[in-house]
Amino acid sequence: METKQITFIVFMLVMLGVFGYTIHRLWGFIGLTKAGFPIDKIGERVNLTLKVAFGQTKILDRPIIGIIHALVWWGFLIITVGTAEMVFDGILGQERILLFLGPVYKGIMGSGDIFAAIIISAVTIFLIRRHIIKVKRFEGVEMNKKKGWKKADATIALSMIMLLMLSLIGMNIGYVKLCSIGEIIGDSCDYFPISGLLIDLVPDSKAHLFHEINWWAHIALVFIFMNILPYSKHFHVMMSVPNVFLSRLDPKTKIQNMPSVTKEVDAMMNPETAFAEPAEGGTMEMPRFGVKDVEDISWQNYLDSLTCTECGRCTSVCPANTTGKLLSPRKIMVDTRKRMNDKGPSLVKDSSYNDQKALVGDYITKEELFACTTCNACVQACPVNIDQVSIIMDMRRYLIMEEANSPSEWNMMFTNIENNGAPWQFSPSDRMNWAEEIVMKA
Ligand code: SF4
Ligand code: SF4
Repeated sequence: METKQITFIVFMLVMLGVFGYTIHRLWGFIGLTKAGFPIDKIGERVNLTLKVAFGQTKILDRPIIGIIHALVWWGFLIITVGTAEMVFDGILGQERILLFLGPVYKGIMGSGDIFAAIIISAVTIFLIRRHIIKVKRFEGVEMNKKKGWKKADATIALSMIMLLMLSLIGMNIGYVKLCSIGEIIGDSCDYFPISGLLIDLVPDSKAHLFHEINWWAHIALVFIFMNILPYSKHFHVMMSVPNVFLSRLDPKTKIQNMPSVTKEVDAMMNPETAFAEPAEGGTMEMPRFGVKDVEDISWQNYLDSLTCTECGRCTSVCPANTTGKLLSPRKIMVDTRKRMNDKGPSLVKDSSYNDQKALVGDYITKEELFACTTCNACVQACPVNIDQVSIIMDMRRYLIMEEANSPSEWNMMFTNIENNGAPWQFSPSDRMNWAEEIVMKA
């Protein structure tokens, strides 16, 4: 085994070990959450994933920036084939191990070369939008809270993508240069439309060194980026496909029944359980109604929060936010993720851990939650099919059902529903009063 091979394998194992630790940590957090809706209709889910995740249909709602983002994503998919090849090359000590695929290989690598140049241009535009144009959608209380980090998060990720693409093109230039001086046997190297034009930038004597530096830089960045992603908003690179696949298929405005209420009603309707006393020395375990903290959310809610790209498309269409209310659907996702990061590690170790704080109240206020009109514009706008409304509804349910903490105007409505079976202040027996006059006239 050559030194390069051994170095690569050791480096790869260390990086995979760190990544494994992160996934194990996230898995522990998912284990704290509640069951969600069942994952059925697999065919429909596959279609949705092909359309929304791979076809980028929702991101194209804003056509100009949408197509730029879509090109980055499609390029990422193509370039991943080359990255997988590099891993096999590194392990086996080979060079371009997939070359035997002939024209298919050349098509993929050539497209990757073009996409690398497109991605460099796209990332430049993204950085300009963030730092020079300062697009309003990227501002907001949840973005300003930790201004430095939030800005750095996006800038670090975009800069790394830029370096990844520059090193990819550098590696291709080095490879084509090596071909041109006869150091590569068995490959015409005529399938790199961008890099092929740039080989004169590298002197013949430096071709090998140039290729090696860029090869190592590219693969090292791939592994480092892979480990940074789960701690960044750019985790959506990995999460968007599964999140779209696992998203809700029901009509957006359909309000889900609460399993805790269903269970209580079932118990009340069953004579065997309706009047049951707690076991001697025991107490009746009270179910949680709605969501108070992260251990009450469903695993789909948590995946949504991990997938949020913080793009702000939801907040920009939210009628509550645009009319000056405190609510920002993006903040709901950012706060849910943050709360899990704050509380999750201790909760995994000790299920009774309590830091005297909660998602509702300390992170997300009552004012924010009650500002939601449940219009679902945010769900419609989200490019990765996040369902912001279900978690807002569940936090509201907690406030109303456990804390009786609803706006005073709503209390009268609840009392009327309870007493009269309708939101109005009339007895059910008076319902047909409106028709009396008509009947009298007839
Ligand atoms: S459903 Fe609520 S959070 Fe979403 S856009 Fe409408 S008002 Fe805003
Ligand atoms: S919830 Fe969706 S639309 Fe809103 S910021 Fe996150 S990714 Fe963007």
